[in-house]
Amino acid sequence: MNSYDKLRPWTDIESCECETISSLVLVDMLTDNPIHCGFCRCEVDPERIELTTDETESIADWFSASNALYRLWLHSGEYENYAKERLLDPNGQVNIEGRQIAREISARIPTQMWFFHDTDDGEPTKCPVCCNALDTNVKWGAGQCQTCHIHI
Ligand SMILES: [Zn+2]
Ligand SMILES: [Zn+2]
Repeated sequence: MNSYDKLRPWTDIESCECETISSLVLVDMLTDNPIHCGFCRCEVDPERIELTTDETESIADWFSASNALYRLWLHSGEYENYAKERLLDPNGQVNIEGRQIAREISARIPTQMWFFHDTDDGEPTKCPVCCNALDTNVKWGAGQCQTCHIHI
């Protein structure tokens, strides 16, 4: 992303072109849509996967809080440490809600929530929720915990 892009509307988001969507990750890629294909990482339109109005609303609601924290962390100012703490707390509101949503959508499409980590803190090897070793058989990211619906 270049500097100009930060002030531009997202008109040219890369959409998933996989023939079928076999998994989803809810992840903040600094766009307006956190629903991404687990295979190619591109964004997936909620209508394509037939999310209900309730599901779409709860994702939007969850995302408004989680992306606010993520942006505060990126901003590296007065709220950086606060935001990081909240994002890293497995019992924090955004993580509880995000995993709850992932669990619900998984009834139809296996879905995981991207769990925040700071690359300065090294590569994660354990699930931040259950502390078991991550399953590293992933297309992108460090690993996943299927039990906890976590992708990291
Ligand atoms: Zn895809
Ligand atoms: Zn876990």
